[in-house]
Amino acid sequence: MPGTTLRSPFSIGMIVDYRGQNYELIDVRPYVRRRDGRDSLVLIWRSRCLDCGAVFDIRRTTTKIETIIAALS
Ligand SMILES: [Zn+2]
Repeated sequence: MPGTTLRSPFSIGMIVDYRGQNYELIDVRPYVRRRDGRDSLVLIWRSRCLDCGAVFDIRRTTTKIETIIAALS
């Protein structure tokens, strides 16, 4: 994606394992923060429900994985 830089160590296609569940980073999109109008990024992660296997995506503007996953619960 031109003009979009993802902060290390994140890269599209990376898979993180958090408490036995895999999350794949499938996309990153430009995002303008409402708070101050500055350019930011939204990260889109994909995973599967551990109970039924349904695919779901989560979108978070932070790159801190613990925060991203914690926001699920
Ligand atoms: Zn489910």
